[in-house]
Amino acid sequence: MSDRLLKGIGVSPGIAIGQALVLRTTMPDVPHRVVPRLRVGKEVRRLRAAVSDVRRHLVELKLKTVDRAGVDEARIFDAQIMMLEDKDFLAGVEELIRENHLAAEKAYEFKALEMRDLWDGTGSPRLKDRLVDLNSVTVRVLEHLLHRGTTEMWDELTEARVIVAREIAPGLTVQLPRDRVLAIVSEEGTRTSHAAILAHSMGIPAVMGLAGAMDRIEPAAVVIVDGGRGTVLLHPTDEELAEARQDEVRRRELASQVADVADHPAVTLDGARIALRGNVDVPDEVDVARAHRAEGVGLLRTEFFITGRNALPSEEEQVKYFRRVGEAFAGHPVVIRTYDVGGDKLPAPFVAPAEANPFLGWRAIRVCLDQPELLRTQVRAILRAGARANLWLMIPLVTRLDEVERTRAIVHEEAAKLAAQGIEAARTIPVGVMIETPAAAVLADRFVAESDFVSVGTNDLTQYTLVVDRGNARLADRFTPHDPSVLRLLKNVADAARAAGKPASVCGEMASEPLSAFLLMGLGYDTFSVAPPALPLIRWTVRRVSVSHARTSAHAALGARSAEEVLDILRLALAQAVDLKLIEPHARLPVGPRPASLPL
Ligand code: PEP
Ligand code: MG
Repeated sequence: MSDRLLKGIGVSPGIAIGQALVLRTTMPDVPHRVVPRLRVGKEVRRLRAAVSDVRRHLVELKLKTVDRAGVDEARIFDAQIMMLEDKDFLAGVEELIRENHLAAEKAYEFKALEMRDLWDGTGSPRLKDRLVDLNSVTVRVLEHLLHRGTTEMWDELTEARVIVAREIAPGLTVQLPRDRVLAIVSEEGTRTSHAAILAHSMGIPAVMGLAGAMDRIEPAAVVIVDGGRGTVLLHPTDEELAEARQDEVRRRELASQVADVADHPAVTLDGARIALRGNVDVPDEVDVARAHRAEGVGLLRTEFFITGRNALPSEEEQVKYFRRVGEAFAGHPVVIRTYDVGGDKLPAPFVAPAEANPFLGWRAIRVCLDQPELLRTQVRAILRAGARANLWLMIPLVTRLDEVERTRAIVHEEAAKLAAQGIEAARTIPVGVMIETPAAAVLADRFVAESDFVSVGTNDLTQYTLVVDRGNARLADRFTPHDPSVLRLLKNVADAARAAGKPASVCGEMASEPLSAFLLMGLGYDTFSVAPPALPLIRWTVRRVSVSHARTSAHAALGARSAEEVLDILRLALAQAVDLKLIEPHARLPVGPRPASLPL
């Protein structure tokens, strides 16, 4: 079976069985064309008219999305409209027209390719997600300028099919006739792709990031798509078909049980209250986290301000965003992580020599302390927005105590400056650290003493403890936070925090999976921050278990010899509380260079 089983990323759960429709799309072929000097003005007008027409079309699509997927999902098109109207980008295109006399479509294509290379080069999965949006906008503008109607690819879709494509733009997802789409499979795309989010909202099972899908899946081949596990099974046997149908029944059963407790508090059977917060990577996710009843944000990533942009964000821009998030979660904490930049993704103004080992290199707090203006601006923005919201500041990738001391000094100095300037700002804010290196975990008691709170980043803690690159698919089996070494560190951190009476949470992906959440409760954690779509399942899990049971299981797990043994212990224990078959598709951890959020 293994040669018939293709693995990608499950971005929208559900099992679909059907024939494949392989859509082959390409960027329009744009002929090289220069125009006489006298026509330059006309080309610029043509460009502006095309942008305005495409804008109108995107607004129509947005309205359609409100009907078909929801108000929040419709905002996805705001991202495309923003890209379309990006002033710097359009000024660049106009400059090419004026100075090089290029026809509008050639100039536009040129700038779009330049942008694509820039985003691609950052290696950031978040920007890769946005590439699909960029491509989609580019195709629309180019087709408009070339006087071609946008191709309606679903014309071929006369019967219900599994759509297979290289990449799926959100515009296509929302326009597909729902009754004729059984599932979506694409080579590009991740959990945070806009098309993934839409597919999820529309209830379409989807697998993305499946390399080679276009070659491996022949047109009209019968396939089983499992949008939870992220697999596509080619040419299934009768037995496999029957099993897939059974899996789908279980999936629906779990979904309905999870939905039943969506509005209930996360309280264990023995009365322990577990706080469930959301990890918010990009502004779009604020509403998603609220929709899933996140009790605040346990990890507000701020790298999106920097990656793929030419300039650093202003203090005002950051204040605005932090205020917005603070207001969205009034009454709950919002933990803002200072820039976790560097290594593979440095802000554009900083030029650093290439490093042989970027993940062991000039990153995160190291960059921020070496370039204090970067940190100071962010700290000021947090303090200012913190005047009216419960904002906490969290330092990533600490390995040394002086990193906490120096950051605290900066917070102190900036707060004093703001006060002296008469600017409204918090006088102080809680400062905590991410425990995501063995150095910090081993010295947990010392870091806890220096901090107001700690949060464990299990993604990096696993990577650095086991010396396994979290993005290396070849080593995926070895990337396991259940390794006894990681467990011992996790326990050390929880014990240190408890002894000092300081809050400790887990904000790595580990907490988003039921077996691990159970284990973490047993190790002493009572606060989890996870990708927002994982919140309902974790809430459901918490409500079915008791902390005392979790503690005895964690104790046994700490004595295990291997990750496999740990998992066996957890499975056996959790089987007493839940039907393991129901959660089996979730009992695996996503691996990737950065955790991609699960879809809505
Ligand atoms: C982690 O390392 O676990 C974490 C939450 O941070 P990031 O995934 O952003 O590195
Ligand atoms: Mg990390």
